[in-house]
Amino acid sequence: MAIDPGEAVAIDAAGLRTRVREFVEENDPTTMPRIDFLRARFDAGLAWVHFPIGLGGLAAPRSMQEIVAAEFAAAGAPDNNPRRIGIGLGMAAPTILRHGTDEQRLRYLRPLWTGEEVWCQLFSEPGAGSDLAGLATRAIRDGDEWIVNGQKVWTSMAHEAQRAILVTRTDPNVPKHQGLTYFLADMAAPGVQVRPLRQITGEAEFNEVFLTDVRIPDGDRLGDVGDGWRVAQTTLMNERVAIGGGVQPREAGIIGILTETWRDMPEIRTHALHDALLQGWVAAEAARLAGIRLTQQLAAGQPGPEGSASKIVFARLMQQLSGLELEMLGEDGLRHDDWTMRRSDAVDFLAKSPSYRFLRSKGTSIEGGTSEILKNIIAERVLGLPTELRVDKDVAWKDIPR
Ligand SMILES: Cc1cc2nc3c(=O)[nH]c(=O)nc-3n(C[C@H](O)[C@H](O)[C@H](O)COP(=O)(O)OP(=O)(O)OC[C@H]3O[C@@H](n4cnc5c(N)ncnc54)[C@H](O)[C@@H]3O)c2cc1C
Repeated sequence: MAIDPGEAVAIDAAGLRTRVREFVEENDPTTMPRIDFLRARFDAGLAWVHFPIGLGGLAAPRSMQEIVAAEFAAAGAPDNNPRRIGIGLGMAAPTILRHGTDEQRLRYLRPLWTGEEVWCQLFSEPGAGSDLAGLATRAIRDGDEWIVNGQKVWTSMAHEAQRAILVTRTDPNVPKHQGLTYFLADMAAPGVQVRPLRQITGEAEFNEVFLTDVRIPDGDRLGDVGDGWRVAQTTLMNERVAIGGGVQPREAGIIGILTETWRDMPEIRTHALHDALLQGWVAAEAARLAGIRLTQQLAAGQPGPEGSASKIVFARLMQQLSGLELEMLGEDGLRHDDWTMRRSDAVDFLAKSPSYRFLRSKGTSIEGGTSEILKNIIAERVLGLPTELRVDKDVAWKDIPR
């Protein structure tokens, strides 16, 4: 299959609708096995329309994805379960597309999009979260392979994942940002051990991952040796947009759950709750409109530091509004429905019960960059304020006391 990023299909909204309808006529979603349908949809360029031809797209404007989504939903077509494969779709895919070789793009993007391969993110370590560039997992070259040793932590969905995006230290003798290299790792490789970490919700959505003499072929290196920090920036910028961005209909998400509760339960209404709900509604609507603007900016290129603002606002709204939901429900809201140790099969901020949403929302201001770190990014890279005190660039990483 040829990849031709330069060749765009000249298509308007009506043409795209026709294309989807013709596809559905030829590939009946009600009779065709789900995975065959998804593979055929990818091959027809109707997966993510802004991706290049040959890689599930039509090189069409990103905004046209909404048309495709609406048409497939109306036809009752199965989706690719985005809550299960969010890390693949939102983070691994844009990074592979930007930094991968044609061979890597062809190998990885199709099973990623269809959900046949779930991806996880092996970035954070016990000693490196906000300061990701300080990570210690080592990769040492051995011929055509790399041998990796280290520990990662807070790895969402690692227990379900077949593949991982992984950042390692390949040179400890240069300033820390320059000694990193990025890999596409096989989670089934010998030496990868995944252990659950139980969360405040009761379940274990994330894990600690131990890497002991894990061998990774050099062909699964993404970007140049030593260029891992630059490659990881693509992932992080996209992560913030994946968590906080996206266009939703009015009253979707957490505010939709609250307004429904308010309408269905007249007995809970008080002036104070009404006031709080209206304020929440206005904040959610402002965030939604800002999300639309961000998506329009994205149409012109890669996400920049502006995505950090959406992520901060998303975290704040999730925490405020899930708290308001409990307040609305009174004692009933305090009952946590399920405290058994469970393994999540998806990351879903809105799922399950009000108490689940309240407890799960605590992590939203930490995952994908803490709100403090994102405020630093906005201060320095959007507003142009003076930067934090940083270690002298000329000091080698191995010489910095830790
Ligand atoms: C639900 C959830 C899912 C996650 N999933 C993944 C995953 O799949 N893969 C993965 O790699 N990681 C994942 N993480 C980890 C997440 O990225 C880190 O927790 C996060 O980057 C913070 O790192 P840390 O926990 O080491 O905290 P630290 O970096 O130690 O920070 C501790 C506190 O200090 C503050 N702080 C640190 N530095 C500064 C500074 N320069 N200025 C101001 N304040 C500062 C932080 O804001 C924070 O409040 C997940 C986390 C959560 C909660």
